[in-house]
Parts: sequence; C-alpha cells; structure tokens
Amino acid sequence: MNVIEVKGLKKSYGLVHAVRGVDLSIPQGEIFALLGPNGAGKTTTVEILEGFRSRDAGEVSVLGFDPQTKGHAAREWRNRIGIVLQSAADAGDLTVLETIDHFSGYYSKPRNVEEVLNAVGLEEKSGALIRNLSGGQRRRLDVALGIIGSPDLLFLDEPTTGFDPEARRSFWALIEKLRGTGTTILLTTHYLDEAEALADRVAVINDGLIIEVSTPAELGGRATSKAIVSWRDGDTIKTESTDNPTSVVTKLTTHFGGEIPELTVSRPSLEDIYLTMIGGTHE
Ligand code: ATP
Repeated sequence: MNVIEVKGLKKSYGLVHAVRGVDLSIPQGEIFALLGPNGAGKTTTVEILEGFRSRDAGEVSVLGFDPQTKGHAAREWRNRIGIVLQSAADAGDLTVLETIDHFSGYYSKPRNVEEVLNAVGLEEKSGALIRNLSGGQRRRLDVALGIIGSPDLLFLDEPTTGFDPEARRSFWALIEKLRGTGTTILLTTHYLDEAEALADRVAVINDGLIIEVSTPAELGGRATSKAIVSWRDGDTIKTESTDNPTSVVTKLTTHFGGEIPELTVSRPSLEDIYLTMIGGTHE
C-alpha cells in the first residue's frame, strides 16, 4: 500500500483553478520532491494531504486515511505525521530544549529530545531563547519539531530557505539519516540541487497539473540528452553537441597534439531541464 495515493485531485479558489487534476503515488520510505514555480499549486496540494484544506474533487489517501475525516481517528492519524511548515516556530520566550520537550508531549511515541537536538545540530543552543536564534537555527528547530514525534510521514515545505550552504549540507545529511529509518518524506523546494541530492523521485507541477514524475537523473530526458563539449580554438570558444563526447575529445586531443585548451564537457543540469519544462519564464 502506498503511503500517499492521490487521484484526480482538484481545488479552486473562486475563479483560480489552483489544482486541476493531480495524481500521485508515493510508496513507503520514498523521498519525493514536488517542484514547481510560485503559484503552481504545491502548497495547496500539500495542505490538502495534511488535512488543512478541503478539496473540490478527487480521491486522497494518506497513510490509508482520508485527511478530510474528523474526530478521534484523525487525531490518531495526525500522531503519525510530522509537518515542517514555511513559517517558523514562534514561542520566543521558551528555550530550544523547552520547546522540543513541550512538543514531544503531543505524541504517543516521541523521539528522545537530546537525540533530536543533536540530529538538527542545535545541541549548543539548547538553553538559548528562541527569539535569539538566527533564521537558519530557527528553521532547524522547525525541523526538530517536525521529527520529534517519530512520524511515519514527514512533510517538509521549503525546509532550507534561508540556510547558509553549510547548514543546507548538514540538513541534507539529517534527511539522509531519516531515510535510513524508513520515514516517507514529501518535500517541496525551489532548490533544484536539493531535490537532486535528496529525492528518489520528483514531480514537476505547473499551473495546477503534474507535467512529469521521474527520478532527478531522468527528468525531461536528461539521462539521454546530448553532452556539450567546449574548448578554445585560437580566439574563439567552440562547442559541439554530441551523443558521444569521448570521441569528440579524442579527435580534439589528436588535433591539438595533447592538452585541449579550456576543455569542458557538460550535460544539462536538473535546473536547465526544469526551466525548459516550465517554459523558462518563471522565477
Ligand atoms: P509557492 O511556490 O509560491 O509557495 P505554490 O505552488 O505553493 O506556490 P499555491 O500556494 O498552492 O502555490 O497557490 C496556487 C494558486 O492558488 C495561486 O494562484 C494562488 O494565488 C492561489 N491561492 C492559494 N491559496 C489561496 C487562497 N487561500 N485563496 C485564494 N487563492 C489562493
């Protein structure tokens, strides 16, 4: 059984058709990234899955449960879900440790508070007041609060916005650790390198519809796309688009009798492919 199963999901706000028929199947243990430009319908989709918004049409199952259901069963279900929203935690007068400890009380099988503190790299800030944390440190606290309940499913909405490059790498390592525990993760991000580093599969959503679901390596035919070989010849930079870069380089090596000036061989990045897919006009 898939952890997330969505068929024909639709949601409009008045005349705005935010989600126009989305299908998704996410198996247990997968890290799945939802990519798309501003206003594509990511937050709407995710918040419907989280039970925070109603839908107009379609079938939705999250951990075998319809998120629209209310009552006791919904509380049991929520206990199995971790959510890291875009907005930061706000309880300025508590310390980091107090906040994580407080949240752990909401769950039936919380992780160890110290362990979570270490996992997000906030051990040295455990006694600091939340209002004195930097933006990136607050975000780590948000992640700590998302994972304190040992969720089976974790929603991460743009988790590393505002992180410095080092904090982003250590966050990625944290997510890799969670992968090892079998946690299913649904991630939205605007960072293509993040999707590439973390996601088993990505979905590109644009204007309320999913354009493609694929592995980062294969998205948009990336795996079979041509390589670009570029080098300097006198005053000009030359390029050749090829299926077989090795033969081009071999030919050039013979031509130059050794070192090829300013040689590069590249393939389109995930970002190149993504921008082509969404028309390259957004963001
Ligand atoms: P971003 O990357 O900017 O977070 P997103 O992909 O999450 O964008 P959504 O927030 O789902 O996009 O918005 C999809 C569309 O629905 C947008 O046109 C947005 O203006 C509209 N929308 C979202 N929430 C509401 C609301 N509560 N009322 C009216 N329109 C809304």
